[in-house]
Amino acid sequence: MNDDQLLRYSRHILLDDIGIEGQQRMLGAHVLIIGAGGLGSPAALYLAASGVGHITLVDDDDVDLTNLQRQIMHTSVSVGYPKVASGKAALLALNPAIEVTALCERATGTRLMELVAASDVVLDCSDNFATRHAVNRACVAARVPLVAGAAIRFDGQLSVFDRRNPDSPCYACLFPENAAFEDVACSTMGVFAPVVGVIGALQAAEALKLIAGVGQPLTGKLMLFDGRASEWTSIGVARDPGCSVCGQAV
Ligand SMILES: [Zn+2]
Repeated sequence: MNDDQLLRYSRHILLDDIGIEGQQRMLGAHVLIIGAGGLGSPAALYLAASGVGHITLVDDDDVDLTNLQRQIMHTSVSVGYPKVASGKAALLALNPAIEVTALCERATGTRLMELVAASDVVLDCSDNFATRHAVNRACVAARVPLVAGAAIRFDGQLSVFDRRNPDSPCYACLFPENAAFEDVACSTMGVFAPVVGVIGALQAAEALKLIAGVGQPLTGKLMLFDGRASEWTSIGVARDPGCSVCGQAV
């Protein structure tokens, strides 16, 4: 690290759990963020500020005026432009020394597999079950840890799925692929802006913990946030041996 980096990251380096070594790990890490919206915005901003050396943003959407109430990586001048371009500009303004790859696409299949396999941690900041399941399948296959977040109305949820740990469930152990979960979109249900901030910031925290080896990852627990009461509920989640995605993986 050069003098600028030692200053920029000094408040991380001062933490015994992180120090120079942990910060170096962040600088050398590659995080893939699927979705550059309400969850992806705070997550990406914190990861960029923290010095994650390479961030890849994937989103095929453009910034819309209705996004600005909560998608804090984008500003009024970004309306009409691709979210990943707006996001890349915001992240590099915050930390010009990192590398940001902006992919304006809906990554699926082999493409998604390649992106996941090239990453140290994946953040699912998407808003639909088809994407969540595709990202989970790729993470299980490539054994790359997945930090999954979701938020709607006043409710948020967060968990970590890490198939490097044989006891860890995958996303499909909790939400089976064949179950009829209905996608509820912010566009119809509404979402309380700070709830995506709370969940997105914690996704960044879990990613940094995994990268730097700090504390206990949230593996095996689903955290539910009730934004009206400002209350958290923690639910233990176990592997499903009959899971269609990870059942035969170990
Ligand atoms: Zn599973």
